[in-house]
Amino acid sequence: MLIDTHCHLDAAEFDADRDSIAGQAMQKGICGIVVPAVARNNFDDVIALGARHQNCVYALGIHPMYVDAAQPEDLQILEQYVRDNDPVAIGEIGLDYFLTNPRDNPDNTGRQHLFFVEQLNIARHHGLPVILHVRNAIDDILKQLRKYKLSGGIAHAFNGSFQQAQQLIDLGFKLGFGGAMTYSRALKIRELAAKLPLEAIVLETDAPDIPPEWVGRGGRNSPLELPGIAQVLAGLKQLNVSQVVDITSANALKVLPKMADLCTSVKVLL
Ligand code: ZN
Repeated sequence: MLIDTHCHLDAAEFDADRDSIAGQAMQKGICGIVVPAVARNNFDDVIALGARHQNCVYALGIHPMYVDAAQPEDLQILEQYVRDNDPVAIGEIGLDYFLTNPRDNPDNTGRQHLFFVEQLNIARHHGLPVILHVRNAIDDILKQLRKYKLSGGIAHAFNGSFQQAQQLIDLGFKLGFGGAMTYSRALKIRELAAKLPLEAIVLETDAPDIPPEWVGRGGRNSPLELPGIAQVLAGLKQLNVSQVVDITSANALKVLPKMADLCTSVKVLL
């Protein structure tokens, strides 16, 4: 059984066929789809998805690219939602220096830090893992993670160095790999996926974004591409695909233990 550890199934791109996609994913052996929130105004949507589909769970959080639109009181609202619902993690949260360079926009960076640190606090307080969005900011992320000592989580769409990966692994994190490693010219990320221990990797689509090579840039990604992504990782690691599926799913359950009920056939591997 496969687990898509990062999928924005609540996005408008799925308005026409969301329910059908979730059902087809189940038929393809995708027993778990983690739908992370990005802002206060989609908390209800991701919770509803979790209630409607047997294979969907949700995380609650405020994404670093949405902090300019967020209000400080959204953090209290998040806390309330976490108390009243049952998210598998706090996410997606993090720091993104790719779109806004801290030198050009220190106000935005300050705001990103405020939201990130406060949400780490919420995760720690509720004993929840975190789902991280990190672009060009791994060292700042690591600094905060060392301070907050969480139970771990997932660094989604990981694209750092081997050394940075190792530091995240030491802090209890798994690294999310998806569509980016399917491009034959993406040498750096393919090398990283090949070199990292399989026990450190979880699979994700990040649908509707980061379509795999066979869908093509600009196409819509979906959780139905996950078996193909698992196949690519198996090829890079020269392992058989069933081993990749079993181990990466077991890895996901280790950092997102609330998903264990969804994927009982995976649980026996733990
Ligand atoms: Zn995301």
